[in-house]
Amino acid sequence: MSVMPGSDMYFSGKILLSYLNELVSLVGEKSVIMILKRSGWIDHVRKIVNTRHEKTAPYEALVDINQQVEEIFGNTALKTLVYSSAKRSFASSFGGTEVVRDTLHWLHKNTESTLRLRVSLETISHLLQASSDQKIKIEESSSHYHLTIQQCVACWGVHGKSSPVCFYTVGMIRGGLHYLFGRDEYPVQELACSATGDKACEFIVRKFPFSVNEKGSGKTGFLTLPPHLR
Ligand SMILES: [Zn+2]
Repeated sequence: MSVMPGSDMYFSGKILLSYLNELVSLVGEKSVIMILKRSGWIDHVRKIVNTRHEKTAPYEALVDINQQVEEIFGNTALKTLVYSSAKRSFASSFGGTEVVRDTLHWLHKNTESTLRLRVSLETISHLLQASSDQKIKIEESSSHYHLTIQQCVACWGVHGKSSPVCFYTVGMIRGGLHYLFGRDEYPVQELACSATGDKACEFIVRKFPFSVNEKGSGKTGFLTLPPHLR
């Protein structure tokens, strides 16, 4: 199905629907309608969202929508609204899937394993790849896991940025970890980004959870967002 001429990358319409629902819960329905109107997707949105994981949503839709979020709510909106909506959308996007159930079961049985974070990231990568045209590679250093994403949905067609812009994907990864562990305790950061001219987007996940100090100083979230929105 081709909604707009030239679109060749798609992701799950269920993921887009979950994301828009979370955006509505943060900024209200009127604002989201305005965002959709200004992005040019208002007349297509019913056709590209889905209640099942079918790849009906063009990457451009998400990029255009997030661009409007940024224009309307200011340049911190990617770190706050986009990040938070993506993070919250993991549960309704993937919560009921067999892969997630199996992973939760494994985590429950292997409470001391040193592979818990790796297994969780593999599950998240699998889900993101299966529901989009993204290609994800996981590598490991002594302190971090590195997720390299080709054809990242969050910055498709975006060029000339001076710093990484894929807070949407940061939110999805962190939301996935939060969902699987039941706690939000691993820092996720985008290190390289296609939108700044890098070959791919690269996300790092620190192997060590947030320390008590970090939690106390507010370093666990993006500072501009009130606690109830994180
Ligand atoms: Zn990126």
